[in-house]
Formats: sequence, C-alpha cells, structure tokens
Amino acid sequence: MKYISKKVFDFCKNNKITCSSDTAEKFDVLYDMLIEFNEHTNITSLKTEDEICTKHFIDSLYPLSYSLIPDGASIIDVGCGGGFPGLPLKIVKNNINLTFLDSTEKKLKFAQNVCEKFGYDCDFYAERAEELIKDGHREKYDVAVSRAVASLPILSELCIPYVKEGGIFIAYKSLKECDKSNPASELSLSEKAITALGGKIEKVYPAYLNLQDKTVFEHALVVIRKVKPTNQIFPRRYPVILKKPL
Ligand code: SAM
Repeated sequence: MKYISKKVFDFCKNNKITCSSDTAEKFDVLYDMLIEFNEHTNITSLKTEDEICTKHFIDSLYPLSYSLIPDGASIIDVGCGGGFPGLPLKIVKNNINLTFLDSTEKKLKFAQNVCEKFGYDCDFYAERAEELIKDGHREKYDVAVSRAVASLPILSELCIPYVKEGGIFIAYKSLKECDKSNPASELSLSEKAITALGGKIEKVYPAYLNLQDKTVFEHALVVIRKVKPTNQIFPRRYPVILKKPL
C-alpha cells in the first residue's frame, strides 16, 4: 500500500471502522485527482501528502469512528467545496445517499469527477444553502455535515433546517471553539441559535489529527440533534443571517 492508503487503512483499523485495503487504495486515487484538479481550481492550500491525507481525508472520516452515521442514511454536505467531508465518507461508507451542495460550481465539479470515477450515484447542487432549501429540501435529510464554512451560530441556521426531526447535524470545528466554559467560544455563542432552530447540542466528540512530524491538531465534531421542526422563517436571507445572528 502507498503512504496515503496505509494511513487511512491504519486509522480505520484503530478506530474500528470497516475499510478494506481496496477501499483504502481509493484514497490514493482521490489524492492524485485532487493534486491534478488543484492545478487549475483551488480546492486545497495544503501541500504535503501527509497534510492532505490527515487534514482532509482522516478528518472527514471521524464521524465513522463514533458510529454517528447510520446505514443507508441520507446526508447533505453543506458548503462541500471540492467534496469534504462527503467524499471520504462515501468512499468508506458506500451505502449512504449523499448530496453535495456548494455555491461554487467549479469546486463542486471535483466532487462530481470523483463520484463518476468511482461510479457513485450522488446528487450535486451548485447553489447557496439558503436558496436550495426552498426547493423541497427542508427537513429531508437524516444527517447534515459541514466543515470550514461559517461560525457555528451562522452555520446552524444554514444546516439545521435540512435535518429531519430526530436526525443530526454534525459540525466539524476546532476543539478550542467547543469550550463551553468560554463564553466567547463558537459553541457558547451558538446555544441560543441552535435552540431557536429546533436543535439541541447532544455531544462534542474530539478528533485528533496526528501529522508525521508529531504535530497534533485538535478538532471536534459537534453533534446537534433535531428535536423540533424548524420554523419556516429560517434560514433567513444571508445578509440578514450575518447582520443579526440568532
Ligand atoms: N467543506 C469544504 C472543505 O472542508 O474543504 C470546503 C470549505 S471552503 C473553506 C467553504 C465553502 O463553503 C466554499 O466552497 C463556499 O463556496 C461554500 N459556501 C459558503 N457559504 C455557502 C452557502 N451559504 N451556501 C453554499 N455554499 C457555501
């Protein structure tokens, strides 16, 4: 196995995620495609094989290590860019029904290319999250995921409306933004918004990203359970969301 497939394979094995060597080897293909596409369209600013594998591929896979995604779940990746975290999740957990959403069509094209290459039947929308919701996507998904798109109060308004009652929204965040004892952390600042949107913070799971040079990045998954339907006035228009966060 090459460096990337081996690192993904070992991560999965150590975290009790089912992943064969053939599946892990798809990450070598994903890496090569990413490097080639990145020459003309900016998907990532990361440079080394190790950084891309760790901070994009392994980071994306973390929900599987906590068994957060049920078999056959319908998932929307909001602001997926080139397809993170959605692509790694789909590669390892093939039975999910994945929808990729990003306002930038040229980035979304990368996710489309990868899905074509692997024969995945996914949906793609080049639209803003506040707009797509109006086209029959409200409360349609078991799980919404989102990484590196906006601060948690804003992101919650974009994502929670997509989740069915009983489903979850998984926000990929840095661990320091999840410190409840700090009133200025994103988690503290989002509590009011999450309640107003029909959500409840269920748990914060740590996600440690270990680089070859022993640097460790402390990320986290914030799991928000949808406990009530979201009032149809949400999400508001983006300028309003920004100007008056809930
Ligand atoms: N999630 C990807 C990742 O982790 O690599 C991309 C992160 S990139 C920093 C943020 C992405 O969010 C951009 O591709 C941008 O187009 C998208 N985005 C920001 N606001 C959005 C919105 N309201 N609706 C849809 N996409 C949005």
